[in-house]
Amino acid sequence: MAGVYIGIDIGATFLRAGLFTGDGRLVRKIKREFPREGFSEALKSLVIDIAGGRVDSVVAVGVGSIGPLDLLRGSVVNTPNAPIKNFEIARPIRELGLKVILANDAAASAWGEYVLGLGRGFDNILYITISTGLGGGVIVDGNLLVGKDGNAHEIGHIVVDYSSRVRCGCGGIGHWEGIASGANIPRSFAEYVKERGLCGDIGSWLCEELSAGRYPKPEDIFKHYYIGDPVASKYIDDYLMVINAAGIASAINVYDPEILILGGSVALNNREVFIRGIGRYLDKYLTVRRPKIVFTGFEDNVGIYGAAALAIRTPSTLAKYAEIWNKNG
Ligand SMILES: [Zn+2]
Repeated sequence: MAGVYIGIDIGATFLRAGLFTGDGRLVRKIKREFPREGFSEALKSLVIDIAGGRVDSVVAVGVGSIGPLDLLRGSVVNTPNAPIKNFEIARPIRELGLKVILANDAAASAWGEYVLGLGRGFDNILYITISTGLGGGVIVDGNLLVGKDGNAHEIGHIVVDYSSRVRCGCGGIGHWEGIASGANIPRSFAEYVKERGLCGDIGSWLCEELSAGRYPKPEDIFKHYYIGDPVASKYIDDYLMVINAAGIASAINVYDPEILILGGSVALNNREVFIRGIGRYLDKYLTVRRPKIVFTGFEDNVGIYGAAALAIRTPSTLAKYAEIWNKNG
């Protein structure tokens, strides 16, 4: 098998790997839990296994990872949600004799859409993932935005509700991710309901959970929304979607994309609610011309497609780092 590429998606919970042909066809994939220790060894064996032991046939390995990144070192530093907080990515892959290209995971996904997905034909793309975390990747005039450490476009930390008291994983308050990501919806729901005294006399399973001291999971809140729970409706229609519209509008206002591509399980599992909810509020906050809005066609493989796209066609904005990571010795 000649000329294959590997895409690795490093999330806080799982490591995913995909083997790709040069024209971006996914041949096979592997999903493993994030290791508790020995990250370098786990990464190496993932690369060897996805290559079927044939690392000599691999042209390059692209990696999209949770951040924050230290791009010069090719490593992750103080990541908040993974079992290991600091780990190297470029060095272990380089030790296998393979070329490596690394980017933030949402930036990689944006690049994947540009090279292989629904962003083909567009030069200005905004990719937003709403999952356990919330992040974005941006392509302006065909350039993947990188920043001094690889952390440009941290749109999850846009302030969307200055009156919120829910603290984001980064420590800030009122941040979009701190309110609307899967990990934070339970706390923001609890705060919203409590602040407004919504439970009162209303019979709601969600209220029973809250009064028992349990925070309902995002999927439970959406499930009850779909069966007409008034507390879930109020939170999702009148708050969560307003927050999402404000965050999305702020990102669109800043980057002026032709197309907005949405991914991440919270958005992908609730497409109608997002389209309707965002559609209702977006124009209120938007200053630039509204872009086309779609959901990723890669579903939950978007991370490995994005990572592979980095290897198949390296963004020019990452070229100087690629040179450092792939220096011999
Ligand atoms: Zn934050």
